[in-house]
Amino acid sequence: MARGEFETIAALFKPLTRGNPAALGLRDDAARLRISARDELVVTADALVSGVHFLDRDPPGDIARKSLRTNLSDLAAKGAKPIGYFLSIARPRAWTDRRMTAFARGLSADGAEFGVPLLGGDSTSTPGPLTIAITALGTMRRGTMVLRSGARPGDDIWVSGSIGDGALGLLVATGKLRDIAVRHRAALLARYRVPEPKGRLGRALVGVAHAAMDISDGLVADLGHICTTSGVGANVEIDAVPFSVAAKLAIERHPELRKVAITGGDDYELLFAAPPSARAKVLKAARACGTSVARIGQFHAGASKVTVGDRQGGVLRLAHTGFTHF
Ligand code: ADP
Ligand code: MG
Repeated sequence: MARGEFETIAALFKPLTRGNPAALGLRDDAARLRISARDELVVTADALVSGVHFLDRDPPGDIARKSLRTNLSDLAAKGAKPIGYFLSIARPRAWTDRRMTAFARGLSADGAEFGVPLLGGDSTSTPGPLTIAITALGTMRRGTMVLRSGARPGDDIWVSGSIGDGALGLLVATGKLRDIAVRHRAALLARYRVPEPKGRLGRALVGVAHAAMDISDGLVADLGHICTTSGVGANVEIDAVPFSVAAKLAIERHPELRKVAITGGDDYELLFAAPPSARAKVLKAARACGTSVARIGQFHAGASKVTVGDRQGGVLRLAHTGFTHF
């Protein structure tokens, strides 16, 4: 059987870092490089493939925006300020000039919204699906990056925004969830197509959060990544996980979707650890950024595992914890 995504990275790619500390063992959202006595460069790369991260018939402008935003989300999780990005694109013949124009317009709108310039890239043709690879650069004060590895036993587990809209939006995109109102379907679809990177919150959490990452593969799986890199366990209370109005309605209709919501990908919310003594600071930071946050559980000193419990004291059985490519 083929190795899993993370086994491949650990077994085949990690040795290529040659132990360089900038790579953070290939176990974080980004790399960090010292650029001056004061500042660090934070670098992240994300590739998006048609049929995997978006659907070929999605609006080209939305595909472009999602590609940039997933990268900005990684910078957000580290607390870095974005300074620019590189775009590599493998374009199939079916991607006409018209679609490319709409693609560029989407990128332009987001470049303006987030204040990030395009700095370079590469363009090729491909016999395969549209593939977009973006590398985003950010800066921050040296030694302040919020790593995945800093969670401590007793820390609260926090998430921003609402969980599961992206995964439920993908169901909408593939013609499902027809039994919920059109406006709720539209809200979920929008979350799947154009995520909202939490840059301001991420920067406000520098010096407050012990650890952070963005949720791209699913809440439970990504929390598992914080657990393994931090050497802690985590208990999540499912009843404390924030769901949007649309997600709540979908879950009411189809209770099995609750598990989909906490294990599905494409949230691009922040998941972070902070000590109970910092609760007021976290809430203040969130309020100042206009982002909601919710405390969904606690880290503990046990094995690096995630358990999800409910109000009745039961433990949810999860067949899988998140999206994996292999
Ligand atoms: P994210 O979801 O935050 O983009 P991933 O979970 O996909 O990050 O990747 C985890 C870590 O593995 C990151 O540090 C990333 O840089 C690294 N990684 C993934 N694929 C590769 C690769 N092909 N070469 C080097 N590093 C990789
Ligand atoms: Mg990430």
